[in-house]
Amino acid sequence: MAGEPQSDCLFCKIVSGDIPATIVRESGTTVAFRDINPQAPTHVLVIPKVHYPDAASLAAAEPQIAADVLTEAGAVAADEKIDSTGYRVIFNTGSGAGQTVFHAHAHVLGGRGLQWPPG
Ligand code: AMP
Ligand code: ZN
Repeated sequence: MAGEPQSDCLFCKIVSGDIPATIVRESGTTVAFRDINPQAPTHVLVIPKVHYPDAASLAAAEPQIAADVLTEAGAVAADEKIDSTGYRVIFNTGSGAGQTVFHAHAHVLGGRGLQWPPG
């Protein structure tokens, strides 16, 4: 069924606690944890607890939870004190854009200068 945990999904296993992560925030619908390979001083991933392969499919099926992911991304930025200096929220979508984990997630990046446009 749509949104159900997938046995082969790394981020579903983080939601269930089967794989450890450095969790920085949790809400009823989301989990935020530090990226294992950080690309900036702050690099946190915000994921919905439900499984959808990317942000667009999450938003189509569960718009409130997609909004929750964005709200939590802003809360992470405030917690990390990067809201005043600027930060980036990224949803890589598709392997051509660098998506490697097919469970929707927002990258929250900040704490250093960020170039625009990104590579
Ligand atoms: P993406 O390439 O947009 O799909 O992002 C996936 C992200 O998940 C990458 O930045 C990885 O470094 C990160 N990642 C992979 N495995 C883990 C893990 N076990 N804990 C935390 N982050 C992870
Ligand atoms: Zn999943």
